[in-house]
Amino acid sequence: NGIRHEIPFVQEMMEVTRNMWQKGWDERNGGNISYLLPGTEVKKYMDVSDVKQTLPLPCPVQELAEKYFIVTGTGKYFKNVFANPEENLGVIRIGEDGRTFDIIWGLKNDGRPTSELAAHFMSHTERLKKDPNHRVIIHNHATHVLAMTFVHGLEEKAFTKTLWEMCTECLVVFPDGVGVLPWLVPGTNEIGRATADKMKDCRIVIWPQHGILGAGITMDEAFGLIETVEKAAEIYMLIHAHQGGIKQSITDRQLLALAKAFGVRPRAGVLQA
Ligand code: 13P
Ligand code: ZN
Repeated sequence: NGIRHEIPFVQEMMEVTRNMWQKGWDERNGGNISYLLPGTEVKKYMDVSDVKQTLPLPCPVQELAEKYFIVTGTGKYFKNVFANPEENLGVIRIGEDGRTFDIIWGLKNDGRPTSELAAHFMSHTERLKKDPNHRVIIHNHATHVLAMTFVHGLEEKAFTKTLWEMCTECLVVFPDGVGVLPWLVPGTNEIGRATADKMKDCRIVIWPQHGILGAGITMDEAFGLIETVEKAAEIYMLIHAHQGGIKQSITDRQLLALAKAFGVRPRAGVLQA
């Protein structure tokens, strides 16, 4: 429907969750998003002194003290966000000691932020060190990325190279490559720390047999990274299902020419000169 929410960042969350659900990447409560908001933007639309609840954080994040985020709620279905943003989303503010958070808006009827807060907040911390304009972390269960982690080796340089070879413009979109973790239990500080360690060097992290995370300075950028990796993974799965096998591919020499033409620096150690 064409109804627009009066709060622009709520509207952005409604649109991205709907798009991802329609793509089949967020079955049931799968996936979560956190979006760093300038305090001035939140204050335009919300009374930030009206704290609904203060709760402990699963992992302390001193670096994010007093920052505002809009997040998806744990157990909430992306399918339902558009019709009911106030129940499925929440605006929170981290406490000044980085150990608690205040609920300012949303998460109606005792909702709580996503169970992957550790991965989100530790990743925000690392990305902000790289780029002060960083804002968004998206996690979802992109179908072909997940499938590819069953059939492709998980060594991340090899994984990166295969993705670059699948669509000509992949290298241009993510020259920093992808990080790949071992399988880890979701929702833990351990997967959070491991994810954030990868985010020091790249904006995409793959959780084998589970999903993907993308980081960006805008919602479009984080979404676009995931969309591009997912497309490459889809091509990979399509050509590997094809009985005839691969007849031709993009060579390292061609990828290097591409990088030169677009002025991007490919992650070291992936391509042979
Ligand atoms: P939440 O519902 O807690 O956000 O968890 C969904 C998920 O995808 C966990 O990895
Ligand atoms: Zn997940």
